[in-house]
Amino acid sequence: MSNQIAFCPECRQDVKYSIKENTESAKLKGETYEFTSHTAYCEKCGEEVYVAELEDANLQALYDEYRRKNEIIPLQDIRAIPEKYNIGKRPLSLLLGWGEQTFSRYYDGDMPSKQYSEILKQIYTDPNYYLSLLEKSKDNLKSDKAYKKSKVASVELLRALSASRQSKIDIVADYLLSQCREITPLALQKALYYAQGFFFAFYRTFLFEEDCEAWVHGPVYRDIYRRYSNYCFDPIDSIDEFDVSLLSGEEKLLLDSIIRHICCYSGKILESFTHAETPWVSARAELPADASSNVIISKQAIGEYFTSVKEKYRMLTPTNIKDYAQNMFSQI
Ligand SMILES: [Zn+2]
Repeated sequence: MSNQIAFCPECRQDVKYSIKENTESAKLKGETYEFTSHTAYCEKCGEEVYVAELEDANLQALYDEYRRKNEIIPLQDIRAIPEKYNIGKRPLSLLLGWGEQTFSRYYDGDMPSKQYSEILKQIYTDPNYYLSLLEKSKDNLKSDKAYKKSKVASVELLRALSASRQSKIDIVADYLLSQCREITPLALQKALYYAQGFFFAFYRTFLFEEDCEAWVHGPVYRDIYRRYSNYCFDPIDSIDEFDVSLLSGEEKLLLDSIIRHICCYSGKILESFTHAETPWVSARAELPADASSNVIISKQAIGEYFTSVKEKYRMLTPTNIKDYAQNMFSQI
């Protein structure tokens, strides 16, 4: 399968070799790691032959496994940082307050400590963090030019990100608005809340990251509240075209059930549902009914509550949300 040549000590000549994949284990810093390695065999006699590139790749595979297990930043992420922020390896090291060569060593494959790895991860994933670091520590840099060109790159990166980033909660809100007629800001908030809770109950993961707050009239997602606050008690009439490919099949299935079985009630009725449910009640604790509050209702509390609802109602599919909603309605 290979036209590549290596020296075979058995045949005492250069031979063609073939490569086989094995699972190997090796010790690194006192721990044993399993990784996939590749070994070359002489095509004439079958003896193992030495191929430098394969040895390097095997060592790399072991180190990759070590990084994965210990949650150390992958090498390719480290290598992407200088280009991402248009900064040299040395200036970056200085910016971080590290030795001048430290970042270069990591770039060349040295293993960063957990602490340094966390810093590099944050830089890699969060341009805002990098930019604040650049501003705070620009005096560490020996050249103003390095600061300026990296700043231009970071600001540009942030601008591009915010243009492309539409968070999942926005997508969910857009879908609800595109499918529901006559939905008020109050009802939209409740629909988001039930979507989050029941999605977790069915799929063990949250639909979106945002936390809601236990306001007087029920759970509220603040950014969404701000966006539509000028509608007050009127239905939101911005019915945008919605690109349904933004949702997975599971997401759409669940949201369609929320639309059908939750959004058919008014915001006021849904408010009374939430006032009877543990997450909002517990988050507000002893607060008087009309006291304003921005206390967070934890996602965990929402997830646990709706998981117990799903169990109590023996729900098999999201369509069964209907049973819960009807029962809540019969009790108000
Ligand atoms: Zn041979």
